[in-house]
Amino acid sequence: MTIPQDPKPCIDLHCHTTASDGALDPEQLIARAAEQGVSHLAITDHDTIGGLARARAASVSLGVELINGVELSCVWRSHTIHVVGLDFDHTNTDFLEALARQNDNRWQRARLIADKLHRLDVDNLLERATVKAGGDVPGRPHFAQVLVEAEVVPKIAHAFKRYLGAGKPGDVKACWPELEEVVQWVNAAGGIAVLAHPRKYRLTATRLRELTADFRRAGGQAIEVSVSGQSSGDLGFVAELARREQLFASQGSDFHFPGAPWCELGKILKMPEGLEPVWHHFRQPVGA
Ligand code: AMP
Ligand code: ZN
Ligand code: FE
Ligand code: FE
Repeated sequence: MTIPQDPKPCIDLHCHTTASDGALDPEQLIARAAEQGVSHLAITDHDTIGGLARARAASVSLGVELINGVELSCVWRSHTIHVVGLDFDHTNTDFLEALARQNDNRWQRARLIADKLHRLDVDNLLERATVKAGGDVPGRPHFAQVLVEAEVVPKIAHAFKRYLGAGKPGDVKACWPELEEVVQWVNAAGGIAVLAHPRKYRLTATRLRELTADFRRAGGQAIEVSVSGQSSGDLGFVAELARREQLFASQGSDFHFPGAPWCELGKILKMPEGLEPVWHHFRQPVGA
């Protein structure tokens, strides 16, 4: 008699829904994850777990194991950095209060972005971006959509390049807490803090090593090694950072919307050898 084996898990620990700046609502996202063969998924909306309850309900019937997740915005030496929190207690009141403060920070930032872009003369910019965000607080991609609609720029990418990307007028950082603080929020809620997409910050190798060391000292436990669309050089570089700082390795697509073939749910580059997967350290370990 053969004993049935669990199929190899397909693990995606970074993606977005309409609760932040994703295009799919929580049910649609879970359905797409199931179609793509994802067995374990963390939804990591920007500074909110607003999509979690609906996603959890949908995940049960479709057989996708949902891990609690969020992507927190913070600053390190004047750079905006993203820390993914995984497998935390989503009923922890201090954590929920911290997320409520992040939501206030996001509104304050949205108003500042609208002020900074005032000279573009787009009527009702903040209101229109809020509509794009489904009535929730708008993020930079929602502002970018309005700039395209108002024909200020031809494409979303141009909106970031000229007005919203790093170092541009709409890149308002004043509102975010320090890196150390958000790591502590995740740890205090029993979760694992993950340094998200390390190569996206346009830091020099030296600076990135310093960021990673500071993140480790603050109590961060993991780093995203496998990120969609990443070159093999970057993959190797981040794998080396993980080994050097003895951080667990995470992986995720950072899926926001369908139609970008290089960034699909569950489409993950193979993890380099010699790394300890973060999912071996979840409260219910996966594949350990
Ligand atoms: P926010 O959290 O409002 O600052 O927005 C961050 C999000 O903006 C990221 O998760 C991406 O979805 C999007 N984003 C950042 N940079 C770019 C870019 N250069 N082109 C398109 N989208 C971007
Ligand atoms: Zn996003
Ligand atoms: Fe991010
Ligand atoms: Fe993300």
